[in-house]
Amino acid sequence: MTIPEDLATAVDHLKRGLTVVFPTETVYGLGADAMNPKGVERVFALKGRPRNRPLIVHIEGVARLEEWVREIPEEARRLAERFWPGPLTLVLPGRREVPREVTGGRETVAVRVPDHPVATALLKAFGGGIAAPSANRFGRLSPTASWHVRESFGDEAGPILEGGPCPVGVESTIVGFVGERPALLRPGSISAQRIEAFLGIRMLRTGADEEGSSPPGLPGSGESHYAPATPLEVRSPDALWIRVRSLVLRGETVGVLTFSDGRELDGQGGVTALPISKRPSEYARELYAALHSLDRGGFGRILVEAPPDGEEWGAVNDRLKRASHPPGGR
Ligand code: AMP
Ligand code: MG
Repeated sequence: MTIPEDLATAVDHLKRGLTVVFPTETVYGLGADAMNPKGVERVFALKGRPRNRPLIVHIEGVARLEEWVREIPEEARRLAERFWPGPLTLVLPGRREVPREVTGGRETVAVRVPDHPVATALLKAFGGGIAAPSANRFGRLSPTASWHVRESFGDEAGPILEGGPCPVGVESTIVGFVGERPALLRPGSISAQRIEAFLGIRMLRTGADEEGSSPPGLPGSGESHYAPATPLEVRSPDALWIRVRSLVLRGETVGVLTFSDGRELDGQGGVTALPISKRPSEYARELYAALHSLDRGGFGRILVEAPPDGEEWGAVNDRLKRASHPPGGR
């Protein structure tokens, strides 16, 4: 667990316009003082992230929301009160004081209250908002453990606060309040269904749903994202082992993420199976760590057994689609 000295060092970095790495319940974040354009610019530079991809501002509690947004629609307030702290990001009309480096020059700002004791302690000790995307190079696998961060950044990203493995494991659900109706901008562990049942309305699906059709700057504008370096294919359970066999016959080595115990592989050379949970929330928690470890395995290809369709698998299927080569392929 994080010791007070580490926390003090991290706060000092934030105050000096430098970056820090901190755990949240979703993934590890690469954070900077959200009111300091210089710090925010460092985040973009370190990640190699396009400047038009706005960052999420992490705040300590719902009470501080007004410091960042100028208008809170009734439904947004209800969501904040119900799901914060938690893996839900709200995109709302931003205050003018929010640096354009954070919003990518938009009128809106993305805000959430993370549900992780280390993130909470950091936000409390710092006293302001922390702009943070995931602590990985742009487009690559998100980090759900501190060693994932060390592997991509070494010491370059500033102090890394230890928080153990992230309990949710996929990025937050994003709901936008821009037009007349709330819109699902990115699926996450809080399913669209759950949000809609709670609000009693149906959201627009403008985000990651349709390949390539999302507006520029929203998550998932077609390109590969959340991807391992090794080419990854998602195959239905029927097609999976046929594909694996044909790859092996061609002399490729394959790492397989599967629901089975891998018995299909007994005696086959060139294939390693990594079993993963059949429960959506456990699957989400394990996904990035599994892909990180398959990515390090030196395989020619990673094959993933397709999870079922359905809202409870929405976040996982969205991330797998984006991790695929070619992007979006299945
Ligand atoms: P991440 O890429 O995980 O850091 O999540 C941040 C995502 O939230 C970005 O990729 C944006 O697409 C989305 N986002 C952040 N701020 C805004 C905003 N002001 N308007 C719309 N989407 C936003
Ligand atoms: Mg990210």
